[in-house]
Amino acid sequence: MKKTEREDTKANGFNQRVSELVSLDRSIPDIRNARCKDIKYLAKLPNASIVIPFHNEAMSTLQRTVHSVLNRSPPELIHEIILVDDFSDRDFLKGPLDAYMARFPKVKIIRLDQREGLIRTRLIGGKKATGDVLLYLDSHCEANVNWLPPLLERIALNHRCIPCPMIDVIGNEDFHYESQAGDIMRGAFDWELYYKRIPINDAERKRRSHDSDPIRTPIMAGGLFAVDRKYFMDELGGYDDGLDVWGGEQYDLSFKVWMCGGSMEEVPCSRVGHVYRKFMSYSVPGGPGVINRNLMRVVETWMGEWKEHFYNHKPYLKGNKFGDISKQLALKERLQCKNFTWFLTEVAPDILQHYPPVEPDPGAQGYLKHIESGLCFTIIRARTTEFKIQTCESRDMREGGRQYFTLSWHDDFRRGSKSKDCIDFPYYQPGTEPNIYPCHGGRGNQLWTYNQEHKLIYHPVSKLCLASDTGTSNNRAIIMTKCQRSNAAQKWDFERAYAKVLGKLNRENPVKFSS
Ligand code: UDP
Ligand code: MN
Repeated sequence: MKKTEREDTKANGFNQRVSELVSLDRSIPDIRNARCKDIKYLAKLPNASIVIPFHNEAMSTLQRTVHSVLNRSPPELIHEIILVDDFSDRDFLKGPLDAYMARFPKVKIIRLDQREGLIRTRLIGGKKATGDVLLYLDSHCEANVNWLPPLLERIALNHRCIPCPMIDVIGNEDFHYESQAGDIMRGAFDWELYYKRIPINDAERKRRSHDSDPIRTPIMAGGLFAVDRKYFMDELGGYDDGLDVWGGEQYDLSFKVWMCGGSMEEVPCSRVGHVYRKFMSYSVPGGPGVINRNLMRVVETWMGEWKEHFYNHKPYLKGNKFGDISKQLALKERLQCKNFTWFLTEVAPDILQHYPPVEPDPGAQGYLKHIESGLCFTIIRARTTEFKIQTCESRDMREGGRQYFTLSWHDDFRRGSKSKDCIDFPYYQPGTEPNIYPCHGGRGNQLWTYNQEHKLIYHPVSKLCLASDTGTSNNRAIIMTKCQRSNAAQKWDFERAYAKVLGKLNRENPVKFSS
């Protein structure tokens, strides 16, 4: 019987059948920045123990990870490859895997006799390793051309630096290889501690002279990084070994390294593909609460008073148990680590800009009344957008209604207060209508201001103003027209306007009047 695509994907979160059709020695596109090819690295580099934890991995992806490392690394730089089996129960990962890997003298397999979770599994691999550098990979990766020297050189130059390769995407359905959307980015988090990518900030842009230069990153993605073995295992004490199964460990290590005297980078000339699963395909002993418990340990250890913001974003965690963190606190003391305010000020000021822990005041909020007609700005349909001015209805003028809007702190103009539906105006032509587009937070066509003095809703990019179309009915269309000092069609009253926020916005974006 032919398996369906869903069945091919069910066991691993990626399409196992397609993976099996792809050569273990395939070539992948060399998508490094062109300049990387011309960079000369130190002649003498530390060697690496490649450590790969796995739990119920597919055979082909695990094999391809090992093949790609051996195929694309200078042999003298690979001290060993350690596969750490975190108590898998798939038979082919036992005898057959041993038999297969026997052809590679550098590959060692360690088997754990109970499920430890990926964090302790990485630590156990690190303890067994004897190379200069620990280089961690997931069990479904492909190392790209010359990936290794650019990482090792960063450690040769500074043994307290933790360099990470740029992580590329291997499609979980068809195994194609491509870069992530937006290459020159940094790792960050929001206050629920979801991992986020943000554009590099000005300080970083100034510091770097070329796109091939390493990028200082506040937070690593997690699975793929290199670290001086002694620095990690002895000085930093590895990870918090009270972290279970999966999650939170990238914050533990990122906060620790930055706050205790080290640094972390993403290295554009080192690229490694990773299969992002469609869903988590294995069981999590202890259930989904384990991840939150991990996060609580990290927050309690590293965040100081900033932890309140985490709990305010996840109030249901307040008072939950997170175990004993005295070892972590002692380490922090012993290494004389700086505090979290220092981290947010010196390392990652851009996190506060992109993800302020307390949402700043909006510029304006509530119903938007067309002064001349007394009618309300109204969304007719949210998707195939249509705006009209219609009779103000109390049920629509409230939060959630069709006549309630926000000029949010992103300086966009949203339906409701927290929706992701933004009023967007991409046409720039007087007489055309605005529409709705998912909020992107990047201003541009979604940047709007409310000018309290002239009662105008202004769109700086097009230099046009929101206006009612001609006519008298209470169902007039909305169009964008040239801004005028006294044109009743353009005058609006926002229910609540916050002068402080709007004042700044209006100074930055003064209305351009055509008369
Ligand atoms: N892993 C492990 N034990 C676990 C969970 C995961 O050894 O309990 C391994 C897994 O096989 C992979 C790495 O840890 O090599 C990271 O896990 P995964 O790829 O599932 O995380 P993701 O990339 O989805 O964040
Ligand atoms: Mn993975």
